[in-house]
Amino acid sequence: MCVHILNAQVSIRAPCCKKKWFDCAECHAAVSNHELHRSTEMVFACKKCRKVFRKDLSEYEEADEFCPHCDNQYIIPAKTPMAGIGLEGDDPRLVRDDRQRDRRQEDRYR
Ligand SMILES: [Zn+2]
Ligand SMILES: [Zn+2]
Ligand SMILES: [Zn+2]
Repeated sequence: MCVHILNAQVSIRAPCCKKKWFDCAECHAAVSNHELHRSTEMVFACKKCRKVFRKDLSEYEEADEFCPHCDNQYIIPAKTPMAGIGLEGDDPRLVRDDRQRDRRQEDRYR
């Protein structure tokens, strides 16, 4: 499981590591001592339908954001663990909103 992109939709086949599969470039970096080799043609595996497809990244179009087998959109804004922390930071404000609503209800009863 990838700890960097929580909603990863595809695995990437690293051409530099005996064609091993990785969820993202950072997963590759965690077990390697070199940069992920990015060739113009990359091989991906869709996590939804588990089928493999190739993409020529030199002529990338909007339609290429979808798995050719099941139309699952695999290029999506990454959900990272950092974003999760940001959401928790918003919680105190929500609690304050509830208290304000309670006070308004008290006014009505007076
Ligand atoms: Zn590698
Ligand atoms: Zn990762
Ligand atoms: Zn698919």
